[in-house]
Amino acid sequence: DNRIPLVDLKAQYLTIKSEIGAAIQRVLDNASFILGKEVEQFEAAFADYLKVRGVVGVSSGTSALMLSLKACGIGPGDEVLTTAHTFIATAEAVSQLGAKPVFVDIDPATYIIDPDLIERAITKHTKAIIPVHLYGQSAAMDAIMSIARRHNLFVIEDAAQAHGATYKEQRCGGIGDLACFSFYPGKNLGAYGDAGAVTGNNEDLLARVRRLRDHGRTSKYEHEEIGYGERLDALQAAVISVKLRYLDAWTEARRRIAGAYREQLYGAKIVLPQAGNDVGHVYHLFVVQVDNRDAVISALNRSGIGAGIHYPIPLHRQPAYARSGHGETSLPITDAVASRVISLPIYPEMTAQQVGRVATTLREVVGI
Ligand SMILES: *Cc1c(COP(=O)(O)O)cnc(C)c1O
Repeated sequence: DNRIPLVDLKAQYLTIKSEIGAAIQRVLDNASFILGKEVEQFEAAFADYLKVRGVVGVSSGTSALMLSLKACGIGPGDEVLTTAHTFIATAEAVSQLGAKPVFVDIDPATYIIDPDLIERAITKHTKAIIPVHLYGQSAAMDAIMSIARRHNLFVIEDAAQAHGATYKEQRCGGIGDLACFSFYPGKNLGAYGDAGAVTGNNEDLLARVRRLRDHGRTSKYEHEEIGYGERLDALQAAVISVKLRYLDAWTEARRRIAGAYREQLYGAKIVLPQAGNDVGHVYHLFVVQVDNRDAVISALNRSGIGAGIHYPIPLHRQPAYARSGHGETSLPITDAVASRVISLPIYPEMTAQQVGRVATTLREVVGI
């Protein structure tokens, strides 16, 4: 089979099979399945990795966002600024709490929220900004943090695609008031099921997230507030604890692949990814722009190459949001980018030959 998938989870599993097996067996032997020692050990290891004060393991990236917003007191009547060029979970968490996502357009070079457009979107109802570190690179955090401080807004980083990414030498996940990670299987640090984490340096907010994830519990039988059942389980914690030890090596492999793509696609009629200032990109996705996107994807697929689109329908144009008035929002850069982007296969185990085949095929398809 010489197909090249967008991501190959099986290839990664085979490189760590015995360690994963041992970790899962350990959980079965201990018969402690929710929270507990495995989760605590992962939280400590990930806090150490990110150099943050605290990590709270939760059930998914989506619940990380929802619990973070809730811990910041966000609810009905509040507005939260974010982008429409992201996975729907970013905005969904805001909507689930009865607050309103307000979509700000993106920087055409990085595809990330444009700090120059944030201030004019602020109203007296605005409570928070959710910058999304999209595709594996950090948002322009200095500009965002200074706007937030000036207007007294919370900053909740959506770091679901940015495990190990840096901004000015600091890891994403410790810059805003809170940050949200997803360990969805296809993410750079992926569990074998749903999992997520909230991270940061504000002990009070982290303590509230910790309470909210477990039914508002302050002790076994006492519930301080109405919370949620959004805990991380021990099997997933054991899996991502093994994988965390490989994350930096996998990131290096992703960077090598990105470098090879850049070299081999240079000069073709393709817009290559541009890194923002001061960022360490971890290439969760390698996204290029082409004219005639749909024809290019079909041609790649016919050659056995699994290209994807992140994301073809911006959130303000999703039926779920367009219906409630968001369809009128003017986001020209978001709309233009959504019609032109393609995600090329990228995963740490991808071989140089596979990268070469994708690049050669893509050059043929776009006509150079
Ligand atoms: C994956 C992802 C999420 C949601 O994470 P889940 O673990 O799937 O709930 C949120 N935001 C972004 C940007 C994502 O890529």
